[in-house]
Amino acid sequence: MKKVFLISLAAMTLFACNSSKKADQTAEKGSVFYTAYDTPYEVPPFDKITEEDYRPAFAYGMEQHAKEIDSIANNPEAPTFENTLVALDNSGMILERVSSVFFALEGAEKTDTIEQIAIEISPKLSEHNDNIYLNQQLFERIKTLYDRAENLNLTTEQTQLLNKYYKRFVRGGILLNDSAKQRLREINKELSALTLQYGNNVLKETNNYQLVIEDEKDLSGLPDAVVAAAAETAKANGMEGKWVFTLQKPSWIPFLQYADNRALREKLYKAMYMRGDNDNEYDNKDIVNKIVNLRIEKAKLMGYNTYADFVLEETMAKTPKAVYDLLNTIWSYALPQAKKEAAELQAIIDKEGGNFKLQSWDWWYYAEKLRKEKYALDEAELKPYFKMENVREGIFTVANKLYGLNFKKIDNIPVYNPEVETYEVTDADGSFLAVFYTDYFPRPGKSGGAWMGTFREQWVDNGVDIRPLVYNVGNFTRPTQQLPSLLTLDEVETMFHEFGHALHGMLSKVNYKGVSCTNVYRDFVELPSQINEHWAFHPEVLKLYAKHYQTGEVIPDALIDKITKSTYFNQGFMTTELVAAALLDMDWHTQTQQQTFDVRKFEEESMKKIGLIPEIIPRYRSTYFTHIFSGGYSAGYYSYLWSEVLDADAFQPFAEKGIFDRETAQSFRENILSKGGSDEPMKLYIRYRGAEPDPIYLLKNRGFVK
Ligand SMILES: [Zn+2]
Repeated sequence: MKKVFLISLAAMTLFACNSSKKADQTAEKGSVFYTAYDTPYEVPPFDKITEEDYRPAFAYGMEQHAKEIDSIANNPEAPTFENTLVALDNSGMILERVSSVFFALEGAEKTDTIEQIAIEISPKLSEHNDNIYLNQQLFERIKTLYDRAENLNLTTEQTQLLNKYYKRFVRGGILLNDSAKQRLREINKELSALTLQYGNNVLKETNNYQLVIEDEKDLSGLPDAVVAAAAETAKANGMEGKWVFTLQKPSWIPFLQYADNRALREKLYKAMYMRGDNDNEYDNKDIVNKIVNLRIEKAKLMGYNTYADFVLEETMAKTPKAVYDLLNTIWSYALPQAKKEAAELQAIIDKEGGNFKLQSWDWWYYAEKLRKEKYALDEAELKPYFKMENVREGIFTVANKLYGLNFKKIDNIPVYNPEVETYEVTDADGSFLAVFYTDYFPRPGKSGGAWMGTFREQWVDNGVDIRPLVYNVGNFTRPTQQLPSLLTLDEVETMFHEFGHALHGMLSKVNYKGVSCTNVYRDFVELPSQINEHWAFHPEVLKLYAKHYQTGEVIPDALIDKITKSTYFNQGFMTTELVAAALLDMDWHTQTQQQTFDVRKFEEESMKKIGLIPEIIPRYRSTYFTHIFSGGYSAGYYSYLWSEVLDADAFQPFAEKGIFDRETAQSFRENILSKGGSDEPMKLYIRYRGAEPDPIYLLKNRGFVK
């Protein structure tokens, strides 16, 4: 996932940061954000930032930004690209500085205070955003430029920037009448509060649940490392001598995979998939209802049939039909495969004399058995070769071999948590590219999942190339007292994925912030991340980084062979749960009538329609589907599959010419990774590949066709 800020703001120039206040009032709360940071690489000074700084900095940042907008809108000179577009793109620097830090922490290091501030500030930011994009005078200036764009002699990148801002105004409601504008403001404000509350509820439901085990017998089947981690969690929660499992992935997934106690597997899995659906104070059903209805209303107000139509206009897919077509095609291959897999798992149950029907909480457990049976592959046997530090080193090595990048660990910059590690990233010629932060382990204040984000994006300011500050956050297996962090294959893949987003940020080389880094269509943004996954388990790559954490021994060929052979294992299940979630998302966002939805029933019917088997549930259910109800991927979860059409095709030249083929890598960097949103995505793609992508490679990638 790529982190999507609540408000996407274009921002900052050096002249903006000379503004008023500051200087002699350094002790003033919030002022840490008012000027360029006085740190190496101008990174956020986390050692100086306190929670008391946010409220005043947000207030002052919005005030200054509003003044800047005013002066752009009221400029007596005729509008030019520079005095309007560039000025707008560069405005709001203080607000961007505080927002990028605050929302990074809101995701990775949330405290009660941060939660409270987010609740207060989100509607204000929404209002602030509307004040900009509903500013008539400002729009008139942009429209003047837009209407005579052909005569302005703009570069492709400038045209993209102009189109982007013009559309942002139109899609922000500038063409509506006054009462509709007023209603839109209210809707945006309500949505910003509701989506935040939804995310907070999921975090609470995740954190509030613990499966406490007192009887050692109930640990039967679990690998030692998993038991040790559960013992440490118990100890940390004042329950020494017991074992605690949580709803964080590194805890519940191994329990589902290995625990022989079927009743406890059921208990834990249900706790996971009932999050937000427990009819308690953190229940999300009512919020889902409100969000969906407000989105329907917003779509109608904006002149669209459905919210998906509204959202998809600004994507590669363009229409709900195109999305459904892709999803249904993949579904037609995935579901039969999943049914075959279910039958194989049932066969194991029957052979063992289980005398019960496979249920969703059994799938992981029997899949693990099947994996051992079919491929003699035991994930526990692999983990020693995937120490987090070794995998990270492997990721850096791949980036070095492909793009010539170098990573130097640095310890002289402030971080927001001692677990965060930092790197200076330089190009092949030694020039500075970016600072890269990693934050890989779960903590109670961290949201689930993994994502990439930036503390600063890349752009050119008065001829100076401002380099980005990029971070990756994850929730991977924690080290314990006995063991370092040993990752699962899924975690390794996720780490490569997020690093692909990071490359997209770090290698950005454009002129304007509004089109830099990962400011691209959402169904294009997963191309750099997903293509990077292709290197994770390639035999050549494994030999570079997969070394035993104790002996340093390189992973043996026999194990590599097992990994390769099991590539398509469980693919029916994984694709089915993913597509089911993507379809559920589309079903919610193609509703045309406002109404009271029965969330459970809606979901049931949505899944019945596509024939989902009961042994599998969608990867996310409606009450904890943070991507679509709090994360900016509404009518957008399909993006992973849309981008996979691209990444599977984009990897072909590497598959044919060699995975470290420098010429192909150079072209991918030139045409995709460095370009951000400075041109239309399909044009960028064709420049790299010479043709549009062929969807067959996605099906091959998942083993559905040979
Ligand atoms: Zn992603």
